[in-house]
Amino acid sequence: MLAKNSRVLLTAATLALAAVVALLVGPTPHPAPVRAVVLKAPAGNGPATVGGTAVPPTPGQSGLPVQSGQPGNDGLPGATPPGTLPPVVDHGPRTGNKVALTFDADMTDTMRRQLRGPHPPSYANLAIVELLERERVPATFFLTGKWVEDYPELTRRLAANPRFELANHTYGHAAFTPRCYHLTPLPRREMTRDVARTFEVIGRYGGRQTRYFRFPGLCHDRTALAELAPLGLTVVDGDVVSGDPFATAWQPIVRAVLSQVRPGSVIILHVTEANAAMTDEALPRILAGLAERGLEPAPLSEVLGR
Ligand SMILES: [Zn+2]
Repeated sequence: MLAKNSRVLLTAATLALAAVVALLVGPTPHPAPVRAVVLKAPAGNGPATVGGTAVPPTPGQSGLPVQSGQPGNDGLPGATPPGTLPPVVDHGPRTGNKVALTFDADMTDTMRRQLRGPHPPSYANLAIVELLERERVPATFFLTGKWVEDYPELTRRLAANPRFELANHTYGHAAFTPRCYHLTPLPRREMTRDVARTFEVIGRYGGRQTRYFRFPGLCHDRTALAELAPLGLTVVDGDVVSGDPFATAWQPIVRAVLSQVRPGSVIILHVTEANAAMTDEALPRILAGLAERGLEPAPLSEVLGR
């Protein structure tokens, strides 16, 4: 109970801080879901798709049909029978020593405008990718479609790494509930299409594709889940909120992760640099702390117990 209470307090503090900053800057934090843990093993048992050829993306291509339950998705990690309400997963089994490092790549229209402005920030934290590559650390990247379109070379690099899995974080990081921080709500009728389109954008890069999906701000309700049912996916929230968006020092990120992490944990971090500037400084300390605890980073599909 203590852990749960401190988690709620931490969440409240994180949200209060992030809400203030978000008003100034734009993107959203990922709060800890304050609710009962739903733990379900994802369906689908086939091997991950590895080694697909990276295909040049077609930026802005949007006229593709919704692909629901299309052949070829069945064997991907996180695939569920199309038409069923997607399972919502916070973490894997609490046995063993595996944990998942997950990195969200947000991209809103506001961020995009900044990228095209006179002093563009970076929304891609190369130091994180380089560290993971150098240390041969497995990780899972939840990509928005717009981020992929803005960073095609980096997406190609992520897809080419056999230790990295790719997952879906919506097309433009809109809210899937009426109220989700400052995010613009997506009309219900556009939800299925938005997520299907993002799978298409990411899918062109091959590599270790999945049917894992994460809502912006972790905001979801039954309506949103029902709209995604045709797509045959698994919703992954996470149980360790690092609080890295808008952090001004690495210490609180490291503390938040190492105080919450347990076997089977899914750790939420960001690879967006300009609005999560301390994550690359926190990461080596997080890796060292995990090693001290005998915990080993693994691809999300392994942590969720495929
Ligand atoms: Zn996000």
